[in-house]
Amino acid sequence: MFGTGLLKGLGVTLKHALDTFEDDRESVPDRYRGSIELGNNRRVIKQPIDQEGLLTIQYPEEKRLLPERFRYIPMLIWDSEKQEDRCTACGICAKVCPPQCIWIVRDSDENGKPVTRCSDFYIDAAVCMSCSFCVEFCPFDAIKMNHDYELAVYDRYPHLVYDMAELTVPLEYYAALWPTQYEEEQARRKEEEEQKRKQDEEKAAKAAARAAAKSAAAADESAAKPKRSAAELQALAKERAAQRQAQGQAADGGGSGDDEADAKRARMEELKRRAQERARQRKEQSGE
Ligand code: SF4
Ligand code: SF4
Repeated sequence: MFGTGLLKGLGVTLKHALDTFEDDRESVPDRYRGSIELGNNRRVIKQPIDQEGLLTIQYPEEKRLLPERFRYIPMLIWDSEKQEDRCTACGICAKVCPPQCIWIVRDSDENGKPVTRCSDFYIDAAVCMSCSFCVEFCPFDAIKMNHDYELAVYDRYPHLVYDMAELTVPLEYYAALWPTQYEEEQARRKEEEEQKRKQDEEKAAKAAARAAAKSAAAADESAAKPKRSAAELQALAKERAAQRQAQGQAADGGGSGDDEADAKRARMEELKRRAQERARQRKEQSGE
């Protein structure tokens, strides 16, 4: 029927208005129950999940508690336990970032050799689209999404291009913003570390077993081999020298009466003679 959609829309608006009135009537004066006091009349208000109406808040003094999965601009994690940046400058986040707003400069040691840490890390917040791809792909849990959305500035450049110092936050800050995800990650990291430790131990045990087997085999081999005395070795060397001498003499003297050697010599003589003959003929032909 004509106008039904319009009436439905007005009905939804009316429902929200009545719910809001009802919620406010029920919540006042304790509508701030459970809110987080920041001091100086500032507080973060958590709207109950079962609340149907719209809770009016006095922004910016009052702010709504953001859900854990809220994401704005990425932040880099400083591992307070290990006292180091988690980022290894692998560059994966920069590669996967759809609008290409991450710029990484890898650090190097005193010899100019690249090392696994950044000397600088920039994100252009004016271009970032908060897709969280960088977070999804980072293999070291080094980049996470920040909740801080109050980034308004007068000039886009350079104020919205954040460097490493501006992006870095301690692990505890991330743990407070993303408690559930942080707990899951910690459990996973512990499990992975445990697995790695076990694998390393297994590898070391296998290597030790291999080395022991090798040295045992070498010991067996040397034990099985009969050892010769110095006199025996001397006699053996003398015998070999005599054999070599006899072979040399046979090679020198044995060929004079040999038919094969004679035939070879005769053939060489014949070839020499033919060559001389050909040279003489060429000389005659040329008229010399
Ligand atoms: S933030 Fe992660 S993905 Fe990006 S460079 Fe650092 S370690 Fe690699
Ligand atoms: S959130 Fe998306 S757009 Fe922003 S830096 Fe990460 S990958 Fe790039």
